[in-house]
Amino acid sequence: MRFWTDQFAMTPDQELLFQQQIRKTTGKYFWAAALFVLLFQIYNIAYTLHYTGFQLGSRASRVYMVLYICMLSFCLISLVLGFLWSFVRKSSDLRLLRLYSAFSFFLLLWSVCITLYDQRVSDNISIYITSSMYIAGLIYLRPGISVPIFIFCEAVLMGGFLWMHLEGIKDTYGFCVNSIGLTIVALFISLYRWSSLRRDFLNHQEIQQKSKIITEQNEKLDFIANHDALTGLWNRNYLNQWTAEFFSAKEQKTAAVFILDIDHFKQYNDTFGHMAGDECLRQVARSLNAMDGNVFRFGGEEFLYILPCEDPDQASRLGESLCRRIESLQIPAAKPGAYLTISVGYSMGSMENDAAFQRLLREADDALYHAKSSGRNRSVKYDVSLLTPETSAP
Ligand code: GH3
Ligand code: MG
Ligand code: MG
Repeated sequence: MRFWTDQFAMTPDQELLFQQQIRKTTGKYFWAAALFVLLFQIYNIAYTLHYTGFQLGSRASRVYMVLYICMLSFCLISLVLGFLWSFVRKSSDLRLLRLYSAFSFFLLLWSVCITLYDQRVSDNISIYITSSMYIAGLIYLRPGISVPIFIFCEAVLMGGFLWMHLEGIKDTYGFCVNSIGLTIVALFISLYRWSSLRRDFLNHQEIQQKSKIITEQNEKLDFIANHDALTGLWNRNYLNQWTAEFFSAKEQKTAAVFILDIDHFKQYNDTFGHMAGDECLRQVARSLNAMDGNVFRFGGEEFLYILPCEDPDQASRLGESLCRRIESLQIPAAKPGAYLTISVGYSMGSMENDAAFQRLLREADDALYHAKSSGRNRSVKYDVSLLTPETSAP
């Protein structure tokens, strides 16, 4: 038995989640059954009172009345507790599940008593059949509870019946075989329900876990595909995706496109080494990334900055501030006493499709060329007639 139950073992967290789910699903059967049995007892009591003319003259009517009142009281207590624990003083799911188990046990035991008493007048085990099938099929019971409950109730049924048989009841053999067979079937259904509910839950958990791992791996792959490994900035691959989204967006399509290029970076590498060059690129990237806007690593020591804007002054200020920002990092340059600087070329205009974007890039590149040739550490705006330096080096 233990070997069999071990395959459905859960961690404490899983157990809590499972109890929560199972309480919700089997809870509604409990409410339905408790209410139905309660109403049924009211009907039985009313019928018995009416049948006996409110006298309860016979012993049988008094016994039945006691049984009905017992079950009515138990249903009432169970419903009140169930209501209190579910809605007023939220109790643990385990406590409610225990209430459902207690209700099932009492219902089965009560059915045994009614059935035994019914045997005095007929060979009828229908109440016991109904209760045991309902409990087996709809209520979640652990094997540690269902096995003793069913065996105990069957023992009471058989014991009571054998005792009554001494007083002269007929088909003993048929009754014993039927009730034992029925109990075995009910027990089997109950165990099957217990195991299938747990198996379904565990399978579902496994699927959820696997899909979480797949989602995480996809996110990692997405990150790797769209980010530059050295600086962590968006890469050119993501630039294509980003621009496609930009073109299809409803908002304004005017933008300023800036190309930033580190000055004399080859010299920097030659002087301080490639590793120091890498660290320098990271530092520059961190600084650019801390700004609002869309920054991409465009090439080796080149970055792209795209700002959706229509205001030429804003773009001009930004170009200038990019230069000052990098200079203020105070990264020692190859030239003694100087700091690392960048040159910026930019262009402004409509960016409604890829052709327009490519044109802006070409113009920004021309402007960058001019920024380099006119002394570096400056921002230059593309101009159709003449590449005019807007800002001068300090
Ligand atoms: P200019 O001011 O005209 O831009 O001069 P420059 O030396 O910066 O330009 P050039 O194109 O001659 O050299 C760019 C250098 O950038 C050469 C290359 O070794 C370096 N570089 C490109 N990518 C990386 C990188 O990932 N890490 C390091 N450390 N260096 C890089
Ligand atoms: Mg370059
Ligand atoms: Mg350069």
